[in-house]
Amino acid sequence: MRRDPFIKINQLITRAISGIAAPVLACLLVMGGLGTASPALAEGPAAAAPMPLVSNVRLGEQGDVTRLVIDFGQGTSLPQNVFTLADPYRVVIDLQDVDFQLPPDTGKVGRGLVTGFRYGQFQEGLSRIVVDATGPVKISRHFALPAQSGFGHRIVVDLQSATNAEFAQSVGLGRPIASPTAAAPPVSTPREPTADIDRKRVIVVDAGHGGVDPGTHGQSGALEKDVVLAFAKEFGAQLRATGRYEVHLTRDTDRFIPLRERVNITRRHNADLFLSIHADAIDRRGVSGMSIYTLSENASDKEAAALAAKENRSDVIAGVDLQGESSEVTDILIDLAQRETKNFSVRFARTVVRNAEGVTPLLQRTHRFAGFRVLKAPDVPSVLVELGFLTNRSDERNLTTSTWRRRVAGALVKSVDSYFGERLAEGTY
Ligand SMILES: [Zn+2]
Repeated sequence: MRRDPFIKINQLITRAISGIAAPVLACLLVMGGLGTASPALAEGPAAAAPMPLVSNVRLGEQGDVTRLVIDFGQGTSLPQNVFTLADPYRVVIDLQDVDFQLPPDTGKVGRGLVTGFRYGQFQEGLSRIVVDATGPVKISRHFALPAQSGFGHRIVVDLQSATNAEFAQSVGLGRPIASPTAAAPPVSTPREPTADIDRKRVIVVDAGHGGVDPGTHGQSGALEKDVVLAFAKEFGAQLRATGRYEVHLTRDTDRFIPLRERVNITRRHNADLFLSIHADAIDRRGVSGMSIYTLSENASDKEAAALAAKENRSDVIAGVDLQGESSEVTDILIDLAQRETKNFSVRFARTVVRNAEGVTPLLQRTHRFAGFRVLKAPDVPSVLVELGFLTNRSDERNLTTSTWRRRVAGALVKSVDSYFGERLAEGTY
């Protein structure tokens, strides 16, 4: 009885999101073409040439031009696309898959019109460099130089400052490869109420960040994207081992997935529960412990709001084109549908706090509320777990240790069991 209005809302949302997605489908078709042209895919991995290796990315200044040079140590990969993005000002350079083997602090220091840059895999077959600009810029030219006199192949991108009008005209031009989310608008198939009790509950485990977006990092250099992936794999394996759950990981390799796509994956699998796994960082090194977040438009405190803002920047960091992403209508519909699942999210979060007590240190007020974009699957109870603080020595040691991972994953499995157990007992399973 209660389900009907929500199914209607889901259909509305699906329609609303499809509407938004339509303009970027063309970009995705282009992308598909690139994918099949790759020799690795056409001939199979055995016949593939070694992956091109980027050994350095340098910045230089010549007059009013800021120059970015990509040095290849082996092979080469022509840019698939070079374009600008707004809010904040960025330049994106997409290359067919390359192996980045750069000095550790590459991209941290800016020069000229550039404040810094990031790099990594963006999606299957595509590597990306995202450059942060000081203001509106234009790509005055980009070209490739062949290997010569001891230098490997190079790609050169020249930037000049632009007026706001110039920037507005060229922003996104050059076929930005939008987030791959548009390919598959969320489909919500209402479940058969009969036989529902017998089926395995579906759990989606989401390792935060990945690829071009490393997330935060610890003092000894541990990266959030690696730490959370290792944890997600352990947790997924333990869930599967119970025989009670169907488990899907949003990623099981070091690759980037936009926030919207993480939500879509969850809905495509008709998930019963979604857990996004992260690790936190803060400039006060004494702060430690796990925390659990559920969705709310009003964050429970300033720190929670700041954390949400940081995690939500993932798409910006990876250079995803967010134009047309926010639609008030969609947001309102999602909000309506959210209300029912929100209560279940809160219940699950409390169960996690109970089970994690004594297993790992907990942050004060362990369960908090904040506006995370990744928790916006309207019909799937969802929580975001910050495993601990990579900026805290003891937490960092824990987070990079397999025995700790096993123990804490075990506590989460217990939480999942008791959450579904309670719902079965009260008939809301
Ligand atoms: Zn994170």
